[in-house]
Amino acid sequence: MGGSRLEQQVVHWLRARGVELSDIAEVVAELIKPKMPDVGFEECLEAVRRVVSKREAQFAILTGIALDVLAERGQLPEPLRTAIRDDSPLYGIDEVLALAITNLYGSVGLTAFGYLDKRKLGIIGQLNRHRDGAVHTFLDDLVAGVAAAAAARIAHRHPRDEARRDVAGVRHPVVPAEAAG
Ligand code: MG
Repeated sequence: MGGSRLEQQVVHWLRARGVELSDIAEVVAELIKPKMPDVGFEECLEAVRRVVSKREAQFAILTGIALDVLAERGQLPEPLRTAIRDDSPLYGIDEVLALAITNLYGSVGLTAFGYLDKRKLGIIGQLNRHRDGAVHTFLDDLVAGVAAAAAARIAHRHPRDEARRDVAGVRHPVVPAEAAG
């Protein structure tokens, strides 16, 4: 496996919590398909790898997973234990932490993150179902944050194509047309 020691630890912890980088790449592919149909899966996977190679993303992911695990084991003090275990809608710090990743690539990522928060594509939806007492309060948002950042990175790297320039604009967010209204 390539990448720094820290990156390897991130990949390890994501895998231990049920998430492969390819799962995140599938979310990216689905996210950008309507606007950029000719971007292949490999490019999506490469974009995910690039996001996960950034130190800010790495520490955000490790922090969020650690809090999920501690909540799962009942090892956080109240009221955090209950708020994180029950994925309380009033908590909100899971989204804030994930946005630290998304913000690495500007406002396109922000729009995509908002869309993923609603639609919960692919692995994000699976995590959000919290099977068998698993706590993924942070992880589902972190995965959405990485996917949104990767989608934004792809959009920024294709500035000459008209359709792709649309994706990079605030008025034309990275969302499928049917969800844009
Ligand atoms: Mg959450």
